[in-house]
Amino acid sequence: MLKDFFFKQKRFATIPSEHAKKDIPEGRVKKCDRCGTITFVKELEKNLYVCPNCDYHFALSAPERIKMIMDQGHFFEYDSDLISSDPLKFEGYTEKLKSDMEKSNLNEAVVTGEGTIGGFPVVIGVMDTRFRMGSMGSVVGEKITRAIEKAIVKRYPFIMFSASGGARMQEGIFSLMQMAKTSAAIAKLHRERILFISVFTNPTTGGVSASFASLGDINIAEPGALIGFAGPRVIEQVIRQKLPEGFQTSEFLLDHGQLDMIVHRKDLKETLSQLLNLHMVKGRI
Ligand SMILES: [Zn+2]
Repeated sequence: MLKDFFFKQKRFATIPSEHAKKDIPEGRVKKCDRCGTITFVKELEKNLYVCPNCDYHFALSAPERIKMIMDQGHFFEYDSDLISSDPLKFEGYTEKLKSDMEKSNLNEAVVTGEGTIGGFPVVIGVMDTRFRMGSMGSVVGEKITRAIEKAIVKRYPFIMFSASGGARMQEGIFSLMQMAKTSAAIAKLHRERILFISVFTNPTTGGVSASFASLGDINIAEPGALIGFAGPRVIEQVIRQKLPEGFQTSEFLLDHGQLDMIVHRKDLKETLSQLLNLHMVKGRI
């Protein structure tokens, strides 16, 4: 019909029906937490999970991070069979662990192991917030400590990618002890003069920020990461003062001397390779 030629453009806005909404399968698109832009997951993947509109760095799973950082994604994992017990018989903890294992396909909130970055051998630890918010219980502390000990034996640099809500409340004092244990292991690494690079990603808070994560010879953060011990509301209540703007972000901490550099995700691997290269001593790191 002739009239069809003139009304090709829709004259009215269409409101998608419930049925239409279901046409986009869940998981195909992702909404940016900061600016609300909706992006196809495939496009985000290509952009290293950085929002193309506002540069927000989405949280990465441990396997995604390893794929991105290690040469050809090659990685030899340590202690993947360690799983948490329930030392305090905390109500619902066992079920929560089980459901996080199924959801994340991981046994705990940290993956440790070795591989190469830019050809340089390293031991790394990568936390994953999908598992109990990346909180540090006995197994997380133990895996990180064992990884540091491996780094000492092999004399490989240690790189830790932190992402954590802090200590794991369901393990109480056992969780808090991990702060001392991991810090002592890092102290030993320092005494052995082995390089430790700490990479803060969003978010690194609580007992993790207050232990090994802040003890790097070089402390790096991704842009806009939340880094701190207690939440801003708690601090405001305690000190009864308004906190400055941007408090507890990577940028604020860099300005105040707590970080050495902020590195965009697209430059992270190259920066780590350069740092490893700089710390080579007579053909060895
Ligand atoms: Zn955004």
